[in-house]
Amino acid sequence: MWKIRALDTGSIELEKSIGTHLTGYGEILLVPVTVFLIEKIDGKVKIIVDTGMESPERSQEVLNQHYFRSEEQKLQVIFKHLHIDPAEIGTVILTHLHHDHCGNNVLFPHARFFVQQEELRYAFAPLPDETKPYFSPLIGLTPSFMGTAFELIDGDEEILEGIQVIKTPGHTPGSQSVLVNTPEGVYCLAGDNVMLYENIEKNIPVGHIYSRGDWFSSIRKMRALSDHILPSHDPALFESTPAFFPRTHSSKL
Ligand SMILES: [Zn+2]
Repeated sequence: MWKIRALDTGSIELEKSIGTHLTGYGEILLVPVTVFLIEKIDGKVKIIVDTGMESPERSQEVLNQHYFRSEEQKLQVIFKHLHIDPAEIGTVILTHLHHDHCGNNVLFPHARFFVQQEELRYAFAPLPDETKPYFSPLIGLTPSFMGTAFELIDGDEEILEGIQVIKTPGHTPGSQSVLVNTPEGVYCLAGDNVMLYENIEKNIPVGHIYSRGDWFSSIRKMRALSDHILPSHDPALFESTPAFFPRTHSSKL
């Protein structure tokens, strides 16, 4: 059995239609850049899901959006406050390879890194309008994940007992979600297929989307395989501090 803690590692000013397809034009949200820490109930094994953004400055320069991160929100500072040595982390699962999800891989020198093969392939040859979010070499940039020795997954796979990754394309072609066994059932960390609770509550795809058809299939799969789905960029994750799951605020299906 595992417990999950959401870590607030910065924020993005997001036009709401990026989060909810064709909905909320012109509405500006300030949303968190979430990293999840999954700990075995006995505290002995720790897993990270996503590693946040490399720096707000670099993201802002490339994407022309506003990004923020205080000293306290730096992942290494958060770990220090939690009395966790990043070198203890043995497993890092990346939901996908956009810049705000794989920017601090270097902090975890002893971890195995898991990503979908399809995602790594697409990150090097994205559609023209997605070169920026991947910091793609196609526009002369170096992706934040360069240098990471990934272990590639093709489909669904159990990583550790009670921790399973499932391939859930939609937001990107190789997005994956993480299923976590907890005392209150199975949680699904959905990556950017579910940026906001609204995506699942109202069944609205994310606005930043590769395939809506795949998205609906992936959401059906997540609902079938889990009891609770957690979004990646919803401020409601941090309504109570520390942001532990299980707790009652999670969206019950
Ligand atoms: Zn994101």
